[in-house]
Amino acid sequence: MKAWTVGATALAALLTAGMAAGTLAGTGTLPQSWQTVRTPSAGPVRVIGTPANGCIAGAQSLPPEGEGYQAIRLSRSRHYGHPTTVDYIRSLAARAKARNLGTLQIGDIGQARGGPMPWGHASHQNGLDVDVWFELDVPPLPREAREGLELASMVDGATKRVDPTRWTEAQAELVRLAARDPRVNRIFVSPAIKLALCERHDLDREWLRLVRPWFGHEAHFHVRLNCPAGQPECRDQEPPPAGDGCGSELMSWFEPPPPAAATPKPPRRPEPPAACAAVLEAP
Ligand SMILES: [Zn+2]
Repeated sequence: MKAWTVGATALAALLTAGMAAGTLAGTGTLPQSWQTVRTPSAGPVRVIGTPANGCIAGAQSLPPEGEGYQAIRLSRSRHYGHPTTVDYIRSLAARAKARNLGTLQIGDIGQARGGPMPWGHASHQNGLDVDVWFELDVPPLPREAREGLELASMVDGATKRVDPTRWTEAQAELVRLAARDPRVNRIFVSPAIKLALCERHDLDREWLRLVRPWFGHEAHFHVRLNCPAGQPECRDQEPPPAGDGCGSELMSWFEPPPPAAATPKPPRRPEPPAACAAVLEAP
C-alpha cells in the first residue's frame, strides 16, 4: 500500500534523484555477481561514482556489534563501506550511548564491493550510505535473532504524522546527533518525521537542512556521507538547498499530486562507472 501521495516538488525530486528502490528501468538485468561476491577487493580503499551508481574497492566491514550498537540482518552481507562510514557509525553509537538514548540497530551499508543490489535499495552503492533504525529499546540479541527483527514504524499511517507512542525526544535527539556530524551530506527520513523535527527544534536549526523528506524511512533513517578526502573518483550528491527545508517543499509531500502529473516514466539505469568492472573482477 502506498503510504504517501506525491506532490509536485516531491515528484520532481523523485525524477532527478532516481533513488526509490525498485523503480529504475534497467538497460539489462542486474549483474548478480555484485551480490554474490562476498569479500572486499584487496588493496587500498577507493570510492568510485555516486551512491546511486558506483562501487567501492578495499571496503571495510562494520563489526557485527560494538559499543552502543548491533548490526542486523547480517546474512545479507551488506555491512561493508568506507572506513569513514564505519567510523561514523561507531562514533554515532557511542555518542547516543553516552546520552542514554539506547542501542542503535544498524541496517544495510553496502555489499562487499558496493555496486547495484538486486533488491532493497537503488543507492547504497559506494560505501557511504547507511540505514539506522529508530527503535532504541531493542535488547542485545544473538546474531541469528537479529535476522528477522521487526522494527516499528514511527509514523501513524492514518494521520500521516509521527506516532507519539513511539516517536519521542530520544529519536529526535538521535537524528540531530546524526546530522551534526560534519561528514554528513544528507539524511533521508519520512516527511512526517521531518515535520516533527521542524516543529520541535526552534533554536538550533542549521542541521535540519541536511534532513530530507523521502519515501519510506518511517522505521529507519538513511545517512549519506560526503566523499571522504583523497577519493578523486567519488562523486558527491549536490548539497541540499539553503534553509531548513521546513517550508513549502516539505508540505508538498502532504499534498495530492497535480492532475497533470501522470505516473513518471522510471529513469533509465545509467551506465556504471567503467572502473567498477575491474573492482568486481579484482581478487
Ligand atoms: Zn538506506
